[in-house]
Amino acid sequence: MSYDPQIMRDPVTIEYTAWDNTFSLLMESPSGKKYALLYNPEHKQHGHILHHVRGRWITFRWAFKNEMAYAKKLIDQYRETTMVRTQAEHNVINARRQLCTTCKRPTGRCEDDTLYDAHGNGPLCPECHECYDD
Ligand SMILES: [Zn+2]
Repeated sequence: MSYDPQIMRDPVTIEYTAWDNTFSLLMESPSGKKYALLYNPEHKQHGHILHHVRGRWITFRWAFKNEMAYAKKLIDQYRETTMVRTQAEHNVINARRQLCTTCKRPTGRCEDDTLYDAHGNGPLCPECHECYDD
């Protein structure tokens, strides 16, 4: 008996590999068999479903048109939620690294809204910026 993965039915975990811009939609059959759909229009294996057999990924079959459409929908959702949040987190991390030129403490701001004094000196933390205004 062979199991045919249906990404419409199975829970899908999305993994993103930044270096080659490839999404993997990972699925697991009720019996624990693992499948992955590769999604990257630039990649020659775009649309392949791979099957995990004895520690190796082997081509299983091409995804159907409706599966690819569903995969795209899932990836779009992933981009909007996970990846946007990741970018927001990066901004927070960058803000923590940005140090005030006056007191040498983190400014808590990101590049886009850096504070400067009237002479263009900065970045400044909000406290030092307020002091300057007074
Ligand atoms: Zn400061």
